[in-house]
Amino acid sequence: MGLYIILMGVQGAGKGEQAKYISQSYGIPHVSTGDLFRAMKTRTDALAQRIQGILAAGNLVDDETTNEMVRERLSQDDAKHGVILDGYPRTPAQAEWLDRYLQSRGERIGVVLLLQLDLYSAFKRAFGRVTDSETGKSYNIYYNSGGIDWKFVDHPTDKQFPPRLLATLRQGGRELTRRSDDGSAHAVLTRIDTYTEQTRPLIAYYDQQNVVARVNADQTIEQVGSDIRQVIQAAQGK
Ligand code: AMP
Repeated sequence: MGLYIILMGVQGAGKGEQAKYISQSYGIPHVSTGDLFRAMKTRTDALAQRIQGILAAGNLVDDETTNEMVRERLSQDDAKHGVILDGYPRTPAQAEWLDRYLQSRGERIGVVLLLQLDLYSAFKRAFGRVTDSETGKSYNIYYNSGGIDWKFVDHPTDKQFPPRLLATLRQGGRELTRRSDDGSAHAVLTRIDTYTEQTRPLIAYYDQQNVVARVNADQTIEQVGSDIRQVIQAAQGK
């Protein structure tokens, strides 16, 4: 039996950070459907263009396209003995498809890690975050804003967007980057709405399978990581 883990939680709950850590500790690949979609940014074909539009608006890509991309990724060699899924599944249809797919490989979900965070903090974590692409260091206007000049600017053409957040390093004046889909408050709110409406119902689905472990995401990265390690150890002992 491989180690198949799902990381669930609202945007900003810290799924990406924890997934990297689990991937390193347990030697299983980190598969983020959001990262796979964002990686299509450089492609110019019609599918990639359509997906960029969906991401920018904060909406979900259709189930068929998403499942197909996951099938392709999970059939690669490094995913033979397990995987940490981040941002997938996000709809009941995806969850059912994944169960059938794993069953066809003689596998099943070992644990669903639910990172719990209130929605107000989720908004601030996602909308406020910026990264220095040179050093990889992250900042947040609400939590960790030292040494940064922050400005709200109108979108150059589309006035219906709320203002965007622009961050520059005070020393050296380097502009910091934001994940393209964190760019507007409207898109972040749409993602939170989509999570509560479409993804949250999956908790009941997985509760029925008795595989959900709840972890408090409103703690330091290290503490959340340590709680997760305990949960995975318990799941491996089952
Ligand atoms: P994330 O990085 O997980 O927040 O995903 C960024 C964006 O990618 C989402 O807002 C969706 O537009 C798209 N996306 C990621 N995962 C999925 C999924 N499982 N189903 C549909 N769309 C997804």
